[in-house]
Amino acid sequence: MTSVELIDIEKHYGGFHALKDVNLTIAEGEFVVMVGPSGCGKSTLLKTIAGLETTSAGTLLIKGRDVTRLEPGDRGIAMVFQSYALYPHMTVAENMGFGLRMAKRPKAEIDTAVARAARVLRLEEQLEKKPKQLSGGQRQRVAIGRAITRSPDVFLFDEPLSNLDAALRTQMRVELSTLHAELGSTMIYVTHDQVEAMTMANRIVVLNRGRIEQVGAPLDLYNNPDNMFVAGFLGAPRMNFVAGQVTEVSGSSARVVCAGGLKVAFEALVGKVSVGETVTLGIRPERLRLDDAAAQIRFAGSVRLTEYLGRETIVYADAGRLVTTGSDSGTNVFTVQIADIRPFHNGSAVSLGFDPADAYL
Ligand code: ATP
Repeated sequence: MTSVELIDIEKHYGGFHALKDVNLTIAEGEFVVMVGPSGCGKSTLLKTIAGLETTSAGTLLIKGRDVTRLEPGDRGIAMVFQSYALYPHMTVAENMGFGLRMAKRPKAEIDTAVARAARVLRLEEQLEKKPKQLSGGQRQRVAIGRAITRSPDVFLFDEPLSNLDAALRTQMRVELSTLHAELGSTMIYVTHDQVEAMTMANRIVVLNRGRIEQVGAPLDLYNNPDNMFVAGFLGAPRMNFVAGQVTEVSGSSARVVCAGGLKVAFEALVGKVSVGETVTLGIRPERLRLDDAAAQIRFAGSVRLTEYLGRETIVYADAGRLVTTGSDSGTNVFTVQIADIRPFHNGSAVSLGFDPADAYL
């Protein structure tokens, strides 16, 4: 069953187009994560679903009901913000029951809902405390608890973990995924954190300049990006890009010559290219190989910098005449990710290599 349907949604702020032609159908029980660079419209889209922003055009359905012109309180949604927005003078229990008290629900119903949320969120010991007596992670759980007690059709999360430290974020990520599995509710989640998106989402929506670039399961987007924006946005370190030109096409194979002279023959092209066309070749850092004689395409480079991260090594290598664009560390530097610890000296000569089947065009 469909939970949320966005049809031709547009949002203008004066002459500025914050959302353009947004169409998306979210199924009941799905966990959908919206990602995109700063200012792409993630929060605006979430706020239009919540009813905190009006839409300039388009229709919003929640469980088949047109809610486009309804007040936030009448839409069957609950929103969790980055700033937990708890009432400091109320206890945890009072904070969690607030929405139901405002809706004038009977006390017994409020008590039951608060007890259930506290059990799910492991806050049973904290119910009589005030927010300032809690840790950051506990406060965020209270904010989530306040949403749960209202039994919404749809949960909306706006970067709920970004105020937490790295360890707590990891823990809360697991807790949110567990919570989603337990409640089975529809959840729409905005974040700029790729790891959150990749690990929690059933589907990821990649937004750019107010438009949806691609929607899909996390690994599907990672492995089969539709375009250069999605390819470059998902994955850290970023995909390496090299400018090139198509010199030969026959059937589904093509020959590409890159700036700097590197020649790459692609055998099974998915899209269409034509001779003379300017293209960009993309290779993920974990697909680039250092000093590997078995790699089909090889070129010379020199190590500029190495980062040892414990379980992996990131090498930034200059490849002389070969021109890269928009890499993590500036142009003309390839990023190589190695799944173990290997020592490299700055300035030492290396060979970089890859197989065309591992590259994107
Ligand atoms: P971030 O990750 O930085 O929070 P975002 O993707 O959530 O970014 P939005 O907050 O949705 O971005 O903003 C999208 C665009 O709309 C931005 O360019 C922003 O400047 C603009 N915008 C947002 N709210 C308003 C407003 N009230 N008036 C005018 N422009 C606005």
